[in-house]
Amino acid sequence: MDSTPINENDQWSQKLPEWLAASKALCSEGTVASYIPELSKAPQSALGIHIMDQKGGGITAGDCGLSFTMQSISKVFTLLLALMDNGEKIVFDKVGMEPTGDNFNSMLKLELVQPGIPFNPLINAGAIVISSLIGGNGPEEKAERTLQFFRKLAHNDKLQVDLDVYRSEAESADLNRSMAYFLRDNGVLTGKVNDVLDVYFRHCSIQVRCEDLARMALVLAFDGRDPITGIRHIPRRYVQIAKTFMVTCGMYNASGEFAIDVGLPAKSGVAGGILTLVPGRYGIGVYGPALNPKGNSIAGVHLLETLSKELDWSLF
Ligand code: GLU
Repeated sequence: MDSTPINENDQWSQKLPEWLAASKALCSEGTVASYIPELSKAPQSALGIHIMDQKGGGITAGDCGLSFTMQSISKVFTLLLALMDNGEKIVFDKVGMEPTGDNFNSMLKLELVQPGIPFNPLINAGAIVISSLIGGNGPEEKAERTLQFFRKLAHNDKLQVDLDVYRSEAESADLNRSMAYFLRDNGVLTGKVNDVLDVYFRHCSIQVRCEDLARMALVLAFDGRDPITGIRHIPRRYVQIAKTFMVTCGMYNASGEFAIDVGLPAKSGVAGGILTLVPGRYGIGVYGPALNPKGNSIAGVHLLETLSKELDWSLF
C-alpha cells in the first residue's frame, strides 16, 4: 500500500461527496438511539466523515462539524489506558478476549460461563471492569486522567464531557448498574459500584467531532505514535491488542460482517460515531446517528464499505 498523503485532487477524494450522498440516503431507514434519552435529540439525517493522513492533512465530507458523544468508542481507549496502568496480566485476569455473540449490554454469560468474567473489554460488562482498573485516587481523578489521555490522543485540549448526556445515562442505567453489582458479587469488580460507573458514564459522554476521532485513530494506525508530532503515546503491543479487539468485537454483533465487507479495525458507538483506520495510512472518524438493527451507523457503515471497495482498503 502506498502511504502518500491525501491529495485533494486525487480522483477518489473528489468522489467522496458523491459516495457520501449515496450513503446518506439510507439515514431514513435507521433509528436514532433513545435508551439514553438525551441521545434521541441527534439529527437522524446527518452523515459526516473526516479522513486524516500522517501529515495531518486530509479530506472531509458531509456533517463533520457536528459534535456527538463517543459512547462505546471510548472503550478502546480506556482499555489502552488500563493496559498502560496495569499491564496485560492484571487486565486479562479480569476480562476475556473473545466475542460474545450477545448484545453489548447483556449479562447472560456472566452467570452461564465460568469464570464469570466479561468476555471482552468492548462489551459493557468488560468496559465497566476496565473503568475500575484505570489508575487514580477516586472517581474524579480516574475520570480526569481518562479525559486528559483522550485530549492528548485527539490533540485537542477542548474535549469535554457532555454533562447532559452523562446525566441522562446515569439516570437511565439500570442494566449497567445491575451488571456492575453482579460483577462485584463475582469478585471481578472491586471498589464502589457508583464510583466505577461514574468513571464509565463520563468517558462514554466525552464529546468529539469526526476530526477528533480521525486523529485518535491515526495514532492507532501508526501503532501508538502520533505521526504528525512524532510523539509515542502508547506501546505498540497494546495498540496491537486494541486493534485486534476492534476487528473481532468492535462493531457489535456485526463485527464479522464488517470484517468481510470493510476489512478494517473499527469501533462504533450508540451515538452514531465510528472510528476506523487504514494501518500506516489514515485515521478516520465518521458520524451518522441513524443506526441499523445491529446498532451501527447505517449510513456510516455503507460509506466505509464503499470506500473500502473502491480503494481496496481491506486488510484481508
Ligand atoms: N454508554 C453506553 C452504554 O453503556 C455505551 C453503549 C455503546 O455505545 O455501545 O449503554
